[in-house]
Amino acid sequence: MTTNWAGNITYRAQEVHRPSSVAELQAVVARSRRVRALGTRHSFNDLADSPGALVSVAGLPAAVEVDTGRVTARVPAGMRYAELTRCLDERGFALPSLGSLPHISVGGACATATHGSGVRNGCLAASVSALDLVTAEGDLVTVARGDGCFDGMVVGLGALGVVTHLTLDLVPAYEMRQQVYKGLPLDVLDDHFGELVSSAYSVCLFTDWSAPRLTQIWIGERLDEPPADVAKLPWFTALPADGPCHPVDGMPAASCTGQLGVPGRWHERLPHFRPDHEPSSAGDELHSEYMIGRGDAVAALHALDAVRDRIRPVLQICEVRTIAADRLWMSPFYEADSVSVHFTWTSDTTAVLPVVRLVEERLAPFAARPHWAKIFTIGPPELGRLFPRLADFARLAGDCDPAGKFASPFLDRYLR
Ligand SMILES: Cc1cc2nc3c(=O)[nH]c(=O)nc-3n(C[C@H](O)[C@H](O)[C@H](O)COP(=O)(O)OP(=O)(O)OC[C@H]3O[C@@H](n4cnc5c(N)ncnc54)[C@H](O)[C@@H]3O)c2cc1C
Repeated sequence: MTTNWAGNITYRAQEVHRPSSVAELQAVVARSRRVRALGTRHSFNDLADSPGALVSVAGLPAAVEVDTGRVTARVPAGMRYAELTRCLDERGFALPSLGSLPHISVGGACATATHGSGVRNGCLAASVSALDLVTAEGDLVTVARGDGCFDGMVVGLGALGVVTHLTLDLVPAYEMRQQVYKGLPLDVLDDHFGELVSSAYSVCLFTDWSAPRLTQIWIGERLDEPPADVAKLPWFTALPADGPCHPVDGMPAASCTGQLGVPGRWHERLPHFRPDHEPSSAGDELHSEYMIGRGDAVAALHALDAVRDRIRPVLQICEVRTIAADRLWMSPFYEADSVSVHFTWTSDTTAVLPVVRLVEERLAPFAARPHWAKIFTIGPPELGRLFPRLADFARLAGDCDPAGKFASPFLDRYLR
């Protein structure tokens, strides 16, 4: 029996194929009646599960092909960001943004619109310029930006085929430094939220909702950009941390990336967690996350503050990040510069679920879109309103996979 990373989902699929070549993968898909791609199992719901078999592309050859002329890299979908980013950096290239955990596969992250933070940074899928995927018939096809339906295929939720490679837009490698500040009253955000989140390349805000205040602010600056001087502004009363921090106050920081303003490579500062450590919880956590328009961020935070006494008992930490708009149909950032409000819950599903519902009620006035890979209870009719291209995506999935080879209970719930 295979479970997800957090252990809250036991996949019903009885078999996980691990082909070592694309030809072998094509044969597996062609002969299977029901099969779905599995990444590194970091999703918190049954999105990755299949009533038939699962197939991992982690065993395909791990070569990264950098095209220095086009400034792109063709990357194996099963590769983790930890390996990819080291390899790109050695060749002088980088990605503009990274999620908090480098252990996650590129294919799984892009299929679910995984994101980091930064007002100018799109989600990780926004860097995808082409996909190679094995279709329901077992054919290998390439779709590239500009091709019909490409924007519908990148955040594909595993519904359209098994992606073998992604071509990613690159940027020149850069250095960063990260400084953590502690303690800022929530009311300060009323007038300064926009200024704060755009004060540096990547800004992440944390609160444990024990009080109306941010517990930590992680400011990531690029060394090739003017220094972030937000800490000099009179309203910024947070104090610099005097040692390395874990986002959850009091947890050991050994698993976290370098702080205290020490310069480092982009991939050693953008994620919160180091590739050679598991996060300190080691999977003993559940996640939910909701995306709202940037203009609604402060009102949404106050709406949550009003129920912080209900949130606090089942919360490890809440994180607020910013993500730039994209054109990807199933992205929660579709045509909307967004703010994400993430919740790392305790691992007690029974206690967490009523609070997830409460958070969804509080955020409903802000048309909050859930993260596809995390726990949510919003139902299909509402999701159709929140994701304006969902019906188009359902049609695309039906066209690509008329027999429902890649279908699953998760997809059936929301796409049919
Ligand atoms: C500790 C932790 C930290 C996280 N931090 C962040 C964060 O900072 N930001 C954020 O946005 N999210 C974050 N996430 C969520 C995570 O990024 C998503 O769950 C992501 O989907 C995980 O990728 P995966 O490879 O584990 O995918 P899986 O969970 O294995 O699969 C997810 C989906 O991707 C599809 N898929 C996977 N590989 C392929 C492929 N080759 N072809 C086609 N479809 C494929 C699957 O079919 C499935 O539908 C975090 C999760 C954890 C556990």
